[in-house]
Amino acid sequence: MHVETDVLVIGSGGAGMYAAIEAARAGAQVFMIDRSLIGRGGATVMAQMTVAVALGSETPDHWRHHLQDTLAAGRGLCSEDLSRLLCERGPECILEMERWGVGWARRNGRITQAMAPGHDRPRCVYVDFLNTGPAVSKTLRTVVNRTAGIAKASDLCVVDLVRQDGEVAGAVAHHLGSGAPLIISAKAVIVATGGLTRLYRRNSASANMGGDGYALALRAGATLIDMEFVQFFPIGHLAPRLVGMDPIMWDPFRYKLGGRLLNNQGEEFAERYGVAEDGRYVLTRDVATYGILKEVAAGRGSPHGGAFLSFQHCSQEALRAAFGPVIDRLAANNIDLTRQSVEVAPIAHYHMGGVKADARMETEVPGLFVAGEAVGGANGANRLSGNAVTEALVFGRRAGRSAAERAARRAPRPLRPADVATVLPLAGAPPATGAGRDLNTAAMVERLQTLMADDVGPLRTRDGLARALAGIEALTDALGELPVGDGKPFDYRRLDWLDLRNMLTVAHVVAAVALARTESRGAHQREDHPEMRPEWAVNQTVRWREGGIVFAAVPAAGAAPPADQAAAPQAVLDATP
Ligand SMILES: Cc1cc2nc3c(=O)[nH]c(=O)nc-3n(C[C@H](O)[C@H](O)[C@H](O)COP(=O)(O)OP(=O)(O)OC[C@H]3O[C@@H](n4cnc5c(N)ncnc54)[C@H](O)[C@@H]3O)c2cc1C
Repeated sequence: MHVETDVLVIGSGGAGMYAAIEAARAGAQVFMIDRSLIGRGGATVMAQMTVAVALGSETPDHWRHHLQDTLAAGRGLCSEDLSRLLCERGPECILEMERWGVGWARRNGRITQAMAPGHDRPRCVYVDFLNTGPAVSKTLRTVVNRTAGIAKASDLCVVDLVRQDGEVAGAVAHHLGSGAPLIISAKAVIVATGGLTRLYRRNSASANMGGDGYALALRAGATLIDMEFVQFFPIGHLAPRLVGMDPIMWDPFRYKLGGRLLNNQGEEFAERYGVAEDGRYVLTRDVATYGILKEVAAGRGSPHGGAFLSFQHCSQEALRAAFGPVIDRLAANNIDLTRQSVEVAPIAHYHMGGVKADARMETEVPGLFVAGEAVGGANGANRLSGNAVTEALVFGRRAGRSAAERAARRAPRPLRPADVATVLPLAGAPPATGAGRDLNTAAMVERLQTLMADDVGPLRTRDGLARALAGIEALTDALGELPVGDGKPFDYRRLDWLDLRNMLTVAHVVAAVALARTESRGAHQREDHPEMRPEWAVNQTVRWREGGIVFAAVPAAGAAPPADQAAAPQAVLDATP
């Protein structure tokens, strides 16, 4: 099958849906597709609470303060034009969402804004603790449904973008339900495919977050930036067993109730890493992740290899007042927070790196736009709580507008058979059979996740990264050039093969640029290079040229953050054994 559209949006999380709405409002015919169900597949629907935005509804604020905090958290690496866009345009999107009925929580008639680590004042709006993402997704789905000019389809996994005369002119997708390929010609394409945390064994991701968009864009000729900066969420649930609840659920608990992060000696250890918490929640994610892992390495970890998180200072009444039915779900898991601590440990959660784009969300390849977590650079070496949903909305809206403007200037140019000749066999032809094709793709995914967790996690060394690269290369060789599977509808082995093709490419990029960066900064901590070095105030970029990957280091586009904010936490990290 072959369809034509003005704007193709790949991915229907917050970024994709906002992009589709904005492109349609600007007059474009939009086709939005997703490998999962529309609006239900990626991270947006899972987001729990914070959406950072300088509304100043309760405490005076200005987007410049938000920008200042974002740049400081990014440790000198933010692409400042993108960070500025995020902070400056955030309020418009949040207020538009309010007009669309999202229902941001209010106190005394004003939108409530909570305090979060790294922000200098209460700045995070939410709908309901644990329920913000579902509300954001539902609101956007509703607006998508009532906006004329948006066609949409689920179960379409994009296998590759297609170029015509040096420009991106469409894509080829694999339709899971039929096993057939779909060719889509488009005047502009927006990649809004989210992040890559499925590369890691312990992650907060959905199954669709294996970094597809980074690999698609790279193969189409775009540049990736800051790929070494994978954010680990420090207090992911570890033990006891927790069924039917999200591993990052302790974040809202800490926002609302504080809570104490303890080692096995019962010490609140954050101070050892430069931040006195005193029961509050002020540790940024990179410092907290580092601190927990260092405590474990020093033999002061919890039994399962993390830290203890205690809410035992809270009464049953206070817990119920804050979280009501959630307390019952904890009780069903035999967890009583008034009597016991839980164990927590870092879990892969978000990717700061991604596709390089300008402030119009256009990549270096004409016709290719990007939005949301797929974009790299706005958050530098470390992201502040709440910036990701804002980024998805703001960048989505901007990408939609820019793509529609391009589409309005161009005549249709349907893809020709020659344009799609190399990708069609991957997307729908009978799979390869014969000797060596009996791959256990599920085991290969698990092997990759294990080696990424072991050697490309929050604490890295030269030897470990080199070991990871060798493992990735071996898996890449084993994967081969043609898909496996039975070629029938719902061919999950083919899907695994397609996933692995992207995951291995992206894993290779992350490990290679992490190996190259011989310093520690933000989410990238090298045990063998513990100091932050001024000469590394550069963004590493990655391009695909004639089948190979080419790296470069370019001076950071962002203004350096004030020395006292950027250097202080790092100096403490460096001094820590
Ligand atoms: C559990 C969890 C909680 C979070 N909580 C918060 C929070 O409180 N505040 C905050 O700011 N951030 C939070 N984040 C991060 C934030 O939710 C994400 O960064 C943001 O929602 C990303 O939006 P997106 O639209 O870019 O991507 P996503 O919402 O991930 O959507 C990407 C979509 O692309 C689709 N897709 C992927 N590959 C393909 C392909 N090849 N073909 C077709 N479709 C494809 C996926 O199925 C998915 O639907 C959280 C993340 C997680 C995982």
